Amino acid sequence: MTASAAVAIIAIALTAAVLDRRAKGEIGRQQIVLDTALENMSQGLCMFDAEGKIILFNERYAAMLRRSDMQLTGRLLLDILREEAAKGQWNGDAEQFFARLVEDAREGRTTTDVVRRFERSIRVVNQPMRGGGWVATFEDITEWLDAQAKISHMARHDALTNLANRVLFHEQLEQGLRRAAANDQLAVFCLDLDHFKDINDSLGHPIGDALLKQVGQRLKATVGEHDTVARLGGDEFAVVQIGRSEEAAARALARRIVEVISAPYEIADHQIVIGVSIGISLSPQDGSNPDELLKNADLALYRAKADGRGTYRFFETGMDARAQARRLLDMDMRAALQRDEFQPYYQPIRDVVSDRVVAFEALLRWNHPERGLISPINFIPLAEETGLIVQLGELVLHRACADAATWPDDIGVAVNLSPVQFKSPNLIASVTEALRNSGLAARRLELEITESVLLQNSEATLTTLHDLRAMGVRISLDDFGTGYSSLSYLRSFPFDKIKIDRSFVSELATREDSVAIIRAVTGLGRSLGIVTTAEGVENDAQLELLRREGCTQAQGYLFSQPRPACEVGMMLDRPRLRASA
Ligand code: C2E
Ligand code: MG
Ligand code: MG
Repeated sequence: MTASAAVAIIAIALTAAVLDRRAKGEIGRQQIVLDTALENMSQGLCMFDAEGKIILFNERYAAMLRRSDMQLTGRLLLDILREEAAKGQWNGDAEQFFARLVEDAREGRTTTDVVRRFERSIRVVNQPMRGGGWVATFEDITEWLDAQAKISHMARHDALTNLANRVLFHEQLEQGLRRAAANDQLAVFCLDLDHFKDINDSLGHPIGDALLKQVGQRLKATVGEHDTVARLGGDEFAVVQIGRSEEAAARALARRIVEVISAPYEIADHQIVIGVSIGISLSPQDGSNPDELLKNADLALYRAKADGRGTYRFFETGMDARAQARRLLDMDMRAALQRDEFQPYYQPIRDVVSDRVVAFEALLRWNHPERGLISPINFIPLAEETGLIVQLGELVLHRACADAATWPDDIGVAVNLSPVQFKSPNLIASVTEALRNSGLAARRLELEITESVLLQNSEATLTTLHDLRAMGVRISLDDFGTGYSSLSYLRSFPFDKIKIDRSFVSELATREDSVAIIRAVTGLGRSLGIVTTAEGVENDAQLELLRREGCTQAQGYLFSQPRPACEVGMMLDRPRLRASA
């Protein structure tokens, strides 16, 4: 029973009691009780006899329907309605409306309606009375309806951009699919801002939020008037292009979006530039329901990102299989971490002049129960994408420090760090803990980073690098010559060591310029007091040439392949273990 129905019933009971007592001459006190009850109700109440004449009403009723200055008691509702219709306050068929009320009461039917009067929404409940006639209660539910509308808007829209959210987008996509004629196409675009997290991290969330809002506005202004734009979460947006969505039209829209979103933004005195990657799926060929189309657009988005971002890709069959394989690998890796299947192998680094081992580089291996030993190049890229590298990196760091603590005091250990680990706030803490737990002296730990680490947010990265160095840890620049090979990186941070990439070493015999590059790097190293290590040394001729060029250290299969920790002792004792070992 609704609250107003309950109130009506109480009122009926009270009124009946009063009428009964009034008949017996016992008015006085009861009349006061009734009046008080009626006038303190938040609802309007009006009681009609079987013919539809007003017997009783409260002030709230008269005020709600603006009938306060009318003579109401004893009047026929029909007359009042006619009068109001004449004044233009009521537009409906007064006779028909009135006849229905009388009949409902006679038949004992309770009715509920919501009517609009004077810009308000009023819920009216008509409750028949036993002796004939009816009681009507009136409740103003305008605010309640507004709140309801607000809640339902919130449930379907993104609060920040006021764009459709995932729920509404799904509904609209479904609707679009239903409406699309059999030979009509519909295109779904999944968008992801490139490196949005960097903006959030470096400029703060308020600026990140402002940027998302502006991206939403630009998107809305770019798509067609019947197209839908949604924010699916974070920096993910989606568009449905409806109507003329043959591939060429989708391509044109994708190009326009990339161009419009990439134009610079002016936010709180910052000039911000951000790119966007887009994946597109077309209905009907790429899917006939929202889930399938979104999933395939997402796979295409993945491709667009892998292909260098700032671009768009259409879905192609086969993307699914690749994505499936990656998902499996990711799951497998997480399980492998639990099962403790990852372990560092160690490869010696030798001093070229003294021909002695000075350190070992920890190189991660996955000891898979079925697939055997898996090389890091087969799982590290995915771990970097999913972020699992942070856990893997910690594992290597802790193991390597613990292992090295058991080696002679003059032997160091080198650990590779992924650029992703620099984005994690725990790096310093994790290095500190690895050193403390193992008891390894900081000077024995070398951290190897690649140029790509310096490319990302250089301020924060340089601070982290300086902090690590202040702890006594040494920093090496790995794979030098493969990336941007800019000597300016060597000036941006005081590296302790440069590792010359093995591609130069392997080409020593065949390419003149490889010798020239090695000469330049070793020369630079000498003048800056930086150790130079040649990677991938496989034969004596290479070693001899490197020694001549003044390279400080060498590492490669000529001395040993990476081996498990238990073989470190043997690698120290035996001057050379060839690849065959
Ligand atoms: P990297 O740090 O440049 O490691 C040197 C790679 O060269 C190693 O490959 C090593 O086995 C290989 N190598 C050493 N000497 C020779 C040689 O004489 N000839 C040839 N052909 N190869 C040689 P690996 O172990 O497969 O590692 C590949 C890459 O994976 C590493 O390159 C490093 O970038 C990454 N990686 C390995 N372990 C880790 C780790 O724990 N964390 C991170 N973030 N990356 C790692
Ligand atoms: Mg390395
Ligand atoms: Mg390397």
